[in-house]
Amino acid sequence: MSLNMENGVCTIMSSKGQQIAKIPIINGLYHICPKEKAMNTQSKTREVLLAYLHKCIGYMAYPAAKMLISKGMVDGLSLTGPLETQFCEPCVKAKMM
Ligand SMILES: [Zn+2]
Repeated sequence: MSLNMENGVCTIMSSKGQQIAKIPIINGLYHICPKEKAMNTQSKTREVLLAYLHKCIGYMAYPAAKMLISKGMVDGLSLTGPLETQFCEPCVKAKMM
């Protein structure tokens, strides 16, 4: 296997010479994502429930999770549904320990 980083693209080749991945650099970082998404910086925004976001990012506090979206710190997500703190059984159990 070999790795080549030239002209803003990281190319990963197998030991047999087949191209495994071609990863473009965007805003100074190599982005591993579907080709059409990497090339289209105005990709669609996906709506997620705040409770779902809370769980996906390690049970982060609801106000902090909301702030990630409202301050534009996360690309491609917007919130839908109830925006207030919800009952979360794992968080309640963790606080009881
Ligand atoms: Zn929780």
